Amino acid sequence: MQPISLYSIKPFLPSAGRPLQKTGGLSFYYFIVIMSENCLFCKIIKGEIPSKKIYEDDDVFAFYDIAPQAPVHFLVVPKRHISTIMDMQPTDCELVGKMLYRAQIIAKELGIEESGARFVFNCKADAGQTVFHIHLHVLGGQVMGWPPFPKD
Ligand code: 5GP
Ligand code: ZN
Repeated sequence: MQPISLYSIKPFLPSAGRPLQKTGGLSFYYFIVIMSENCLFCKIIKGEIPSKKIYEDDDVFAFYDIAPQAPVHFLVVPKRHISTIMDMQPTDCELVGKMLYRAQIIAKELGIEESGARFVFNCKADAGQTVFHIHLHVLGGQVMGWPPFPKD
């Protein structure tokens, strides 16, 4: 593995400025770094893998899904690596709120405010999660069915 600079680690800190020992110490810190080094969406956020970016700020990143399942289908992700919604901590509430807030702003900009949209987090195997960096799917531009899985 290549040496890791402090700069490359910073976006993945549990919370900027918070002492490490209050967030699980260095082992948790290095676990997050190793997870994020192999993560597709971390690579997209860093620009190492190209994407059709829609929006970026200090906390969140939004881009079009590579295999759209509806006329409008984009993803909103946190810049900090969190593997699944089951890994959310109380300190992540504001960050996830920012993802949802940004998702609805983008949905409005893309013209689906009135028609509506589906806002989805797939979590782990039963829900079909394939990329283990939390991402909010926003799907719209057509009428969708419910429930979103076969009955048998
Ligand atoms: P999940 O199945 O984990 O809920 O969703 C992962 C999503 O990421 C899928 O909808 C898939 O099409 C999308 N995806 C996978 N690889 C890439 C990629 O390299 N670029 C983009 N833009 N989307 C991707
Ligand atoms: Zn990641």
